[in-house]
Amino acid sequence: MKPITARTKLLGVIGNPIQHSLSPLMMNAAFDASGIDARYMAFEVSDLESAVSGARSLGFIGLNVTVPFKEKVLPFLGSLSPEAELAGAVNTIVFGGSPEGHSTDGIGAVTAIKERGLYLGDADVLILGAGGAAKAISFAIAEAGAEVTIANRTVSKAESLSNALISAGYSSLYCSLSDIPLTKKYSLIINATSVGLNGEPSLLPDLPKYVYAMDLVYKETDFIAKAKSAGAKIIPGLDMLLYQGAAAFELWFDEKAPVDVMRSALEAKNVDH
Ligand code: NAP
Repeated sequence: MKPITARTKLLGVIGNPIQHSLSPLMMNAAFDASGIDARYMAFEVSDLESAVSGARSLGFIGLNVTVPFKEKVLPFLGSLSPEAELAGAVNTIVFGGSPEGHSTDGIGAVTAIKERGLYLGDADVLILGAGGAAKAISFAIAEAGAEVTIANRTVSKAESLSNALISAGYSSLYCSLSDIPLTKKYSLIINATSVGLNGEPSLLPDLPKYVYAMDLVYKETDFIAKAKSAGAKIIPGLDMLLYQGAAAFELWFDEKAPVDVMRSALEAKNVDH
């Protein structure tokens, strides 16, 4: 690790709570492997506007933004990437001139899915959830060619996300959690809710055989356990964390992220989330 000097660049993640974040480990490992003189810290924030303007004034290269600020941060940014504009959420800020907001969750999810061998063109994908994460990944998955069905506890939110996808030119359906058309042959089912984070039972009691299953919650959830026993192929949520982080690194430093090193740092420490 390079010693911290007056030239060391600063980056970080803002959220609340934040102690569980694996991003500092992943990012600092990436800086070390790339010979970049920078450090990345986690900040538990209550005053979001001051945090963003303070980081900017202190010369930070950038920030990651996590729960509960991904949507709330929008008014404090100068511009949005097309992905952030569509998702209505930001997980990466690039400082420099006026702060730019980006959303790398979508590309993170799609890279993780493709890496496991699933072709998304013409696929039917069921997403459980219509919160920030579901929004970000649904546009990227639809852009890759899939028809996306959104199932959510609050059906009005599923409807509005599905309508936003349709308005953007994609094919989409929505339903309630109790009314999922499981006769449809989904290639991929994604749990994009927070259900499972604290050991709650899966929202889907039975998964179809031979489907791909992905849970954005990184730890072994009941959803993943049920998917495994149904014979499903698993796409780890940790891979999405990895690839959204790699995309953020590339926005900040304009060079290829050392993905293998970042993966090793995550896998070594993914004990709980
Ligand atoms: P969010 O905006 O708060 O949305 C939460 C979603 O979960 C909503 O759809 C909500 O439904 C649903 N939900 C919560 N409790 C439920 C329950 N008891 N029964 C049914 N549905 C329930 O959160 P988010 O930002 O989308 O994050 C969702 C999860 O993804 C979190 O666990 C987060 O840590 C994870 N995540 C992982 C990554 C990664 O890189 N792997 C990236 C981003 C997020 P309602 O709309 O009805 O409330």
